[in-house]
Order: sequence, then C-alpha cells, then structure tokens
Amino acid sequence: MNVKLKFTKGDLLFVVLLLVSIAAFVNVFVLMSQYSSGTTDQALLMSSAYAEDAGSKFGKRIDMIREKTKSLAIMAAAAEDMETLIDFFGDLQNDPSFGTYIDNDIHYFLGDKEYNQQGVELTTEDQDVLAMRRANVLATYGIIYKTISPCVACYCPVAGSELLDGIVVYYLKETALSFADDLDADKLQYASLMALCSQNYSGAHIITVLADKTGTVKENSSFLDAIAALTNDVVPIALISTTLDKGVTETQSVRFNGEQYVLSIQRANLTDKGVYVIALYRDSEVYSSSYALVETAIITMAVILVVLFIFAIYFVVSRRRLNKRIEQLSMENPDLHCPTVRYFEREAKQLIAQNRGSNFAVVVSHIQHFPYIVEKHGESGAQSILKHISNVYASSLSEGETYGHIVDGEFALLMHYSDEKRLETRLTSIYALARKHSEGDGMPKDYDLKMLFGVYKIDNYNQSIQKMVDNATSVCDMPARTDINQICTFYDEAVRGNYMRRAEIENRMEQALVGGEFRVFYQPKYNLDDDRIDGAELLVRWYDPQTQNYRSPAEFLPVFEENGFIAKLDRHIYYTACETLAKWISEGKRIFPISVNISRVTAIQPDFLAYYTKVKKHFNIADHFITLEFTESFAYENYEYLSVVAKELRKAGFLCSIDDFGTGYSTYNVLKLLDMDEIKLDKFFLDKGAHTEVDRLILDSVITMGKKMKLKVTQEGVETLEDLELLREEGCNVIQGYYFARPMSGNDYVAFIERFMQENPILKAERELRANRARNNSQG
Ligand code: C2E
Ligand code: CA
Ligand code: CA
Repeated sequence: MNVKLKFTKGDLLFVVLLLVSIAAFVNVFVLMSQYSSGTTDQALLMSSAYAEDAGSKFGKRIDMIREKTKSLAIMAAAAEDMETLIDFFGDLQNDPSFGTYIDNDIHYFLGDKEYNQQGVELTTEDQDVLAMRRANVLATYGIIYKTISPCVACYCPVAGSELLDGIVVYYLKETALSFADDLDADKLQYASLMALCSQNYSGAHIITVLADKTGTVKENSSFLDAIAALTNDVVPIALISTTLDKGVTETQSVRFNGEQYVLSIQRANLTDKGVYVIALYRDSEVYSSSYALVETAIITMAVILVVLFIFAIYFVVSRRRLNKRIEQLSMENPDLHCPTVRYFEREAKQLIAQNRGSNFAVVVSHIQHFPYIVEKHGESGAQSILKHISNVYASSLSEGETYGHIVDGEFALLMHYSDEKRLETRLTSIYALARKHSEGDGMPKDYDLKMLFGVYKIDNYNQSIQKMVDNATSVCDMPARTDINQICTFYDEAVRGNYMRRAEIENRMEQALVGGEFRVFYQPKYNLDDDRIDGAELLVRWYDPQTQNYRSPAEFLPVFEENGFIAKLDRHIYYTACETLAKWISEGKRIFPISVNISRVTAIQPDFLAYYTKVKKHFNIADHFITLEFTESFAYENYEYLSVVAKELRKAGFLCSIDDFGTGYSTYNVLKLLDMDEIKLDKFFLDKGAHTEVDRLILDSVITMGKKMKLKVTQEGVETLEDLELLREEGCNVIQGYYFARPMSGNDYVAFIERFMQENPILKAERELRANRARNNSQG
C-alpha cells in the first residue's frame, strides 16, 4: 500500500511563505528595474547636459575664433597691394589684441596657391585645411600640427580682393581650448571619459582629454581606438561613428564591459560640423549612492530567494525521506520488529492475486484479556509475549502465507484453506507453540495465554483485505462459544448475528446502567452445619423494558468483561446491595450475609480496595458480613497480587472466597499462599461421570483439603436432595443451588426468609426422605 504524503499546517505555511517571498521578490525586482531604468534616464539627461555644457562652451570659443578670423579676412580684403597686405599681417603680429590668439601663422590663398604671411608660396599638406579651402566657407577645424605646436585652424573666404581669396589662421591650441577652465569641475568628475574631438578623415580625433578615469587615453589619437582598447563592445564604437557621420548630437544608454553607461556625443557648435565633445558616464557613478542601494536591494532579494530555494529543495528532500520512513514504519512494527497490518494487507493482496484458484482464509488471532496481561506483566513483558507469538507465526506459516500485527496483541494471518478441520488443527498446534514461552530474558514465565482465532474463509475475492480482516476480527472473540476448548470461530452469517447482538449490548449498556435496568438478584445459600440460611449470593439481572424480560448474564457479561464495563457494573451491584441491606436493617428486617462477585477487571482497578471499603463503611455494614468472590482462574493467574489485596480486604473486615473452584488449575500451594476464607466448588464436582466412585473420591479429597486449610467449603449447583445428602456426609459446610433456592428479586428474598423462618424446607425434605427410607426398609 502506498502511503501518501499528507500536508500539515506547517507545510502549507511554508508554501505560502515561499509564494509570498517569490511575489515580493518579483515585485521588488520590477520596482528596482523601474528605478534602475529611471536612473539610466536620469543619467542620460545629466550626461547629455554635461556634454552639452562642454560642447556649447567650446562652441563659444570656436565662435570667437571664427569672428576673429572673419574680421581678419575683411581687413585683409581691404589691402590694395601686396606690400600693404604683408605689412598688415606683420603689424598684426605685434598687435596685442590679436596676440593671444595668433601664432604667427596666417596663410592666405589665391586660386590654388597658398602663401604664408610673408607672401612666400607654400605647399600645404594638411588635408583638413585643403578641405576647408575647397569648401570655401567660414570653418574651423580641430588640431592641426602646424610647425611645432598644435593649432586650431580656421578658414575664412575673402571677397572682393585680387590679392587673396581666402585666409587660414592657425590659433594656438591653448587659446582655443581655454574654455576647459570654464567647465564645472563637479560636472567633469562624473565622467569616466570626456574628450574634445574633431572629426577628421580618420574619424574622431582627440583634440584634448577633459576627463579620463581610465588613465589610458592619449591626446592626438583616435577616440575610437581609445574605446576599442577599453572594451570589446561594438555598440559604442558604431554609435560614435554613425553619429559623427550624420553630424548630429546623440545621447544613448550603452552596455560597456557589462556595465550600464551613457554615451553622449555633442556637436560643439551648430555651425561647425567637425568638433564634438564625446563623453562616457557610468550610471553607477552618476547616481552612485542610490545605484548602490538598488544593487544592494536586488542582491539581497536574490540571496533571500536563493536561500528560500535551497530551503525548498531541502524541504522536498527531507519530506521524501520522511515519507520513506513513514512507509517503512507503516510496514514494520518498530517495537516488535514484525510486519504490520499494512504490510499484511499489501502482501495478502499480492499473494491472492498470484494464486488465483487456490483457497485462502484470513485469520485474526486475539489474546483474551490483553489489557490485563499488560497490566500484569508490564509493557515490556507484554511485548516479549507478542514478539514470541510473532516468531511462532513467522516460522509456522508456509509458502504463500503471510501475517501482520494489528493492535493490542491481535494478529492477522493469511492461510491456505482446504477445510475447516485441517485449518483448526493447524491453528491448534500454532496456539500450542504460542503458549510455550521459555526463551529470552524478561519474558514472563508464568502467564497463562488464552488465545482465540477468528477465521474468515474468503468466499468473495473482490472485497478489500481490510474487510476480510474485519470479518475475521468480528468473530474471534465471540462470547457465545459452546465448547470451552474451542479456539476457532468461523465467520458466517449466523455468527454475524451474534456480533450484531454484541454491538446492540454495547450500545445500550451505559443507558441501561443509568436507567436502573441492572437489578440485584439474590440466591440464598444453606448452611449444612447449623441448618440455617447462610446468606445469599448477589447475581446481576438485566431487565429489558422493551421485552419486559430479564436477559441472562451469560449473554452480556462476557461482553462487559471484554470491554471493561463490568467494573462499573460490579460496583453498581455492590453499592445497591449494601444500600438495600442498610434499608432492611433500618426496617428491622432479618438479614443475612452477602456474597459479591468480583470480576478480574474490577479487581485490578487501582481504587478497588478503597471503593469497596468506603461503601462498606458508608452503609455501616458489619465485619465478616460481606464475602468477595474471586474466580479461580483470576486467583491462579494473579496469586501474588491477590494475596496482598486479600490481606488488606480481610483487615477491612471482608471475607474472601475462591469461586468456580475446580474449573482451572488451582493447586494446593496457591490456595495456601492466598489465605482465603472460603472455596466455592464448581458444579462440575456434582456432574455424574462414568464412575460414581471416582467422582466421589475427587469430591471427598477436595472437601478434605479445604477443611484441612480451615476454609469454609461451599458447593454450588446443588439441584437434588441426593446431592445434598452426599455433601452432608462429606462434611461440606454450605450448599447453593436450585434445590434450595433459585436466584430471586430482593422482595422475593425477603419473603423467602419469612417462609424459611416458619418452616425449614431442607430439614422437612430430609425428614421425609428418612421416613420414606424407613418405610421402604420395613417393607423390604
Ligand atoms: P457464578 O458466580 O458461579 O454464579 C452462580 C451461577 O450458577 C448463577 O448463574 C446461578 O444462577 C447459577 N446457578 C445457581 N444454582 C444453580 C443450579 O442449581 N444449577 C445450575 N445449573 N445453575 C445454578 P448466573 O446468574 O447466570 O450467573 C452466571 C455467572 O455470571 C456467575 O457465575 C458469575 O460468575 C457471573 N455473575 C453474575 N452476576 C455477577 C455480578 O454481579 N458480577 C460479576 N462479576 N459476575 C456476575
Ligand atoms: Ca459467584
Ligand atoms: Ca461459581
């Protein structure tokens, strides 16, 4: 059978926790990514603002250069001849208002010729300058290495002169770039890389490095090369190239070595196509503190999720393990190391399926008075008994058979079935083995194991094994057993009826007790020594208001003994009888001693002694007025316990009696140990066997033994005057039986006593018997 995993409250809580955590993580993750993209946007804005700032400041510088160049061009155009022009250029060099801007290089063009300021013709190699010349518009260009120092060249066409048609002025680089001093240092500090670049034929050429956290970028080199040296990412490089090609301004978020950056390409001046501020910002630096927060939050959540995930895996694994363990436990009883009923069910199902066509029976073995065995031998003692039984089954069952422990000493067995007799024989020999219990330490040696077997011969293989076990169980402790030696009960509908009756009894018993349906009957006893009423035994009767009849104790008492209700009932009978006695005394009625039956369950109650003593005191019943009857089998099995209890009972003024003597295994020794007041001989001593002589010998020896031990000897079940005569001869003290009186109600008992006081029916009968004999003798 498969044991399914059951979810506990804790499991559900864990699952809910996990789901909530995942939900929280997703939520935080979304928030964080929103926040992160928010910071990227912010970084974009800020970065473009920084770069734009740098670009426009540089642009202004360039504008100044252009204005200057333009005014130079206009002034140069005014020269009428070559001399004036050369002088103008020469004066210019001494003019402080130009001095800061001009390195001594001013070149002018005429047609396809280029001249320096002294009018000497030159050959210009600089491609950028030639390009400006070709375009023939006001233009500025980036760094040009003119003579010894790098310059910014600006070209301006000259109109209306025959001497020249354009000039190019080479400004000192420092002059052009002095804008960098105007840049806010705190804005620069965020940039990982910021450079002023010119777009020349080789791409973005670095004019000057404004900021460089990498420390690797060199002036007068290619910006793209510088970037390519820093990363393998192609996106930034492509972006720069296309932006410069288009001659536009662009700011974009890019991945750079796995990190989020903003790349900003700002055209320095709207009218100047060739100069750019290119800047690279790392998001985390632009938004350093909040960025760290976002990162920490995401990492924390990730860690939590990982931990939860690991925990979940651990949880699943340990659950699996637990499941396995549960499965294992459900298959083997850990205390007895024997298969469980669950194992039995699984095995039986398989065996039946594998052996279709052969007959099986499900047998349930039941230990009688199991709670009482536990009480007596302790848990470990009872356990070793069960272990022993389990071993017996394991070795006695044959191929294709199996067994398992159900509960409280009950076992289920699957056995091959051919016919009732054969199975019963097998079970009898198994039972014999189960009762032999010599081996092992701590194994109780002196217990008397009584087992019963319920047998369900499987007639319908479609029903569940559970149902078959139930069937067998329902009959294994059937109270209605005709033969005392019968250990097997076979399940069939008739027996089932009996089981139903039992259920009916159990359903009604509590209500019946409260409703006063259990009545006390009295069976008077006759004392042969002084020919008087000796007293009466209390016998319970169940008055059934439905049928208005009395139910026999034989029907319900075995049920009560099994379920323990007998303890309540015994006390009820005892209490009621004591109460009645007290009432009769107060009414001045003549009263006699009473004998009370004590069941084994009653006797082992922890407060047995206390209760019986208390009630006796409460109703002020005289000492030696109440005799408590313990059955012989109980006394034999519990002689140690009973010898202690009996001593106490006698101290408290009770008399003790051994009931049903002769039915069990009592020995002389046990009797001696127990120190009783009375033995009640079972009716069995009066049963007529084949040899009257032997019967009489046995009766004689028992009575002699009792008297030797100074016990009052009472014979039960005396039905004839003949038996009475015999018992008188043997020296028996008291008789009880139908011959003297049947059990009767309290009122009838009172009336019986009245009649007896008027005339003793026993003496009368004996007189008549003697008279008859005398008559017969005289006739004969
Ligand atoms: P017991 O203690 O041996 O009681 C004597 C039984 O023998 C009674 O059966 C009684 O009616 C019956 N009896 C009396 N005289 C004769 C006779 O001459 N011939 C025959 N054949 N039987 C006779 P009862 O009342 O059916 O009780 C059966 C058993 O139930 C009792 O056997 C006793 O063990 C138990 N019992 C009865 N009342 C109580 C009770 O209140 N408490 C307990 N624990 N057991 C009780
Ligand atoms: Ca009795
Ligand atoms: Ca008896």
